[in-house]
Amino acid sequence: MRIAIASGKGGTGKTTVAVNLALSLCGKESIQFLDCDVEEPNAHIFLKPQFDTTRSVDKLLPQVDSDKCTRCGACVEACEFNALALMGGNVMLYDSLCHGCGRCGLVCPTGAISEIPHQLGVVETGTTRGFPFARGLLNVGETMATPIIHALKREIDSSRLAILDAPPGTGCPTIAALHEADVALLVTEPTPFGLHDLKAAVEVARTLDVPTAVVINRAGIGNDQVERYCDEENIPIVLTIPFDRAIAETYAVGTPLVDAVPSWRKRFIKLAEQLKEVAR
Ligand code: SF4
Ligand code: SF4
Repeated sequence: MRIAIASGKGGTGKTTVAVNLALSLCGKESIQFLDCDVEEPNAHIFLKPQFDTTRSVDKLLPQVDSDKCTRCGACVEACEFNALALMGGNVMLYDSLCHGCGRCGLVCPTGAISEIPHQLGVVETGTTRGFPFARGLLNVGETMATPIIHALKREIDSSRLAILDAPPGTGCPTIAALHEADVALLVTEPTPFGLHDLKAAVEVARTLDVPTAVVINRAGIGNDQVERYCDEENIPIVLTIPFDRAIAETYAVGTPLVDAVPSWRKRFIKLAEQLKEVAR
């Protein structure tokens, strides 16, 4: 089973929920944790894993041999991402637009295009508290997060319950993390902004045919619009975490809530049981 923890935007407590769910289940179930927030992974701050393997995630960039190139423009025409241009009699590549699809090389009539690997980031794997932990890291200056997430998801062991901490937002990286999840656990705040972002996240999950459940974090700071929306849309609210100074302090010092207040563990275990009922 794959549980993806997501939110329409950052800062809602998504990683808090993912980490505490993992710590509540480890020892009870065979689990693994994947931090898919490859632009800003932070689950390691709470879970403190030991990494033992680092794998490079690359894309293949075309390289043009100007001696073989006849400047026919076929590669420029073929590129769907506008990553190539003929300028001053040379084929120019815009690295950041290139998806490494290889199409330009296939259409080149003179075999002038070869491919060279370009690192986008890495996937690190290790363990913490007796369960596997993996995270992706996008290199600074790179924009293509999804290949890292796809590479990270290849670390999923189907015999374990996988907890995926998805990237915030509703863009391609979030979609990559949610794809093929059995359930999306959406973390939100009870505010108009929270509701707006929750609706967007629900939309994405529904497009991917992934069932949803909601955690309301910082309950008490806003209104009941999120609850009413969930009721109307038949989305179960599986946990409510109050706005509480003591909880915020555990987060600030990098201590998981269930370590600081062990009584929370049974609430997360119950949450997992509810998710199994929601899952497709
Ligand atoms: S590899 Fe694909 S995306 Fe990159 S330049 Fe060639 S055709 Fe365009
Ligand atoms: S398709 Fe090949 S020969 Fe034609 S412009 Fe591109 S690299 Fe040069």
